[in-house]
Amino acid sequence: MSEKTEQPEQTVAFKAEIKQLLNILIHSLYTEREIFLRELISNASDALNRMRFEMLTNREVRDPDAELKITITADEEARTLTITDSGVGMTAEELAENLGTIAHSGARAFIEAAQEDQEKLTDVIGQFGVGFYSVFMAAEWVRVTSLSYQPDAAAATWYATGADTYTLGPAEKQTRGTQIEIKLKEDAAEFAKEHRLREVVKKHSDFVAFPIYIGEDEEQANQQTALWRKQPHSVEDEQYAEFYQQFTLDMQEPLLHTHLVADAPVQVYALLFVPAKAERNIFSLRREDGLKLYSRKVLIQEYTTDLLPEYFRFVDGVVDSEDLPLNVSRESVQSTALMARLKKIVTGQLLKALKDLAEKDTEKYIAFWKEHGPFIKQGIATDHAGRTDLYPLVRFHTTTHPGEWSALDDYVGRMKDGQTAIYYILGDDERSVTRSPHLDYFREHDYEVITLTDPIDSFMLMGLPQYQEHPLQNVAAADLELPEDESEEADAEEAPAIPEDEFGGLVERFKQHLGDKVTDVRASTRLSGSVARLVDPEGSLNQEMQRVYRLVDREFEVPKKVLELNPRHEILKKLKDVPQDSELSEAIIDQIYDSALLIEGLLPDPASMIPRIQELMQAALK
Ligand code: ADP
Repeated sequence: MSEKTEQPEQTVAFKAEIKQLLNILIHSLYTEREIFLRELISNASDALNRMRFEMLTNREVRDPDAELKITITADEEARTLTITDSGVGMTAEELAENLGTIAHSGARAFIEAAQEDQEKLTDVIGQFGVGFYSVFMAAEWVRVTSLSYQPDAAAATWYATGADTYTLGPAEKQTRGTQIEIKLKEDAAEFAKEHRLREVVKKHSDFVAFPIYIGEDEEQANQQTALWRKQPHSVEDEQYAEFYQQFTLDMQEPLLHTHLVADAPVQVYALLFVPAKAERNIFSLRREDGLKLYSRKVLIQEYTTDLLPEYFRFVDGVVDSEDLPLNVSRESVQSTALMARLKKIVTGQLLKALKDLAEKDTEKYIAFWKEHGPFIKQGIATDHAGRTDLYPLVRFHTTTHPGEWSALDDYVGRMKDGQTAIYYILGDDERSVTRSPHLDYFREHDYEVITLTDPIDSFMLMGLPQYQEHPLQNVAAADLELPEDESEEADAEEAPAIPEDEFGGLVERFKQHLGDKVTDVRASTRLSGSVARLVDPEGSLNQEMQRVYRLVDREFEVPKKVLELNPRHEILKKLKDVPQDSELSEAIIDQIYDSALLIEGLLPDPASMIPRIQELMQAALK
């Protein structure tokens, strides 16, 4: 390097966001500030991985034969700590850009959390990837000296004390990579002790894929195992749990892990986890959905979304295959035929693990279903080819087993003689749905009905027309066919109906008063305890589709319905004798109609019934 081409040292102001971040970190009283070491090691590991990837296709780099490693040395007396890596390094421009300009998305979220609630800060800081700047929790000053892998780049150095500016200048560094020197604060002197460093590395960075050497004698401090490359029988449950924690920073144990090692038809290692919660907390290490994709220990892609169907996006983990061609760019990896085969294998493995869990640990499986069930339902609705594989995963409540989570197989096993269809009812909540008049017949004849009250259930049903040879049928459908002998036998037991001619007059009365609120009024053979119900007129959208439309389009108006009356019901028998145009007759008709709307979840203003109910009570007390 000649003196002339060197830039003189310059002082530069941090961007406002970073000033803010530094201020918070310097003054934080967070006790577990050891995590700064994890952040620096993680950056070093990223830089090493980028180096390894670069060298797959490019040998024109500086120090191509240097070992890929992280070295940590400390000087107790001087209270300094130095972390060195042989990764890609940074040019002067990159130093300014990466350590002075942008705070990554995690840091931004952190600042927001800090502004919201200072108290909460200490709880979240540990789980947070605040990145490089977390070093200022422990540092008086920091000096970063780096030499880029690009052969013609010059070494550069960056120095900051946590004040509003940093300095940037040329440096003497002969080997590729980055060196971070830290002068520790007085109360952070512990991090200049090797045994303490060893402890922290073990705790937070044990599975980092590159060796981490500590001290002058360069003793390796991390296990550096790619756990997924071990044989499953040789790995203890605790090791999986520990790996998951370091891998995701999720403090909650996963609901499930599954580990696959196979040589044929494709060489693959896969280690998948189902997290306890579907929602990633904002402090999670993972910023996107997707699995980590490795080949020969090189991280090819951090968030790979094409190894599982989209609805399994809550799954976390690693897939590693020796068979992936490495001489292609990251972008074109996705389109290889091998990826499609890997997806099939990985998806099959996950499905099998979920089925095993359902058999072996019902409680855990139900926890899974409650948390991730909506994703499975989405899969059934959208994945035409794969949906039958998802059917066995579905759980639901039914009218006869309301407190249990049943599977379709449970339901089929309990079907009555002569029953061919699987019956379900849609509603807004479990309690009101069991009062539905659509259930009269089924209750009376002991048919089990599945109660579906999740908004996404209507979508799911679009992909679940039948299970095995049993069609799924909505009990609210006007044209539902019932097992025949049963309905005849039932007729014989029932109370006598209003004679047809008199009933015709009653129907007219309803029609006149309700006008165009309904498309028709007619007798029903399905009702027993209930006075009336609403059904869809022939040819209109079915109930499932109406619900789907209501979900996607707030403006959607539910089509008008047919009011079906129960000709055997006491109330109607008596109503027939109340004078036609009396206020009482009209109030009763309105109330019957509103009640039917209410139970369908279609009455916009239930409180509007109150004056009428008062009127009816007064009449009853006369
Ligand atoms: P993050 O790592 O989440 O992007 P950081 O603030 O920790 O955020 O780091 C900012 C950037 O600085 C990194 O994205 C990387 O480009 C660069 N960087 C940090 N440490 C190193 C290192 N040891 N070697 C090379 N580049 C680094």
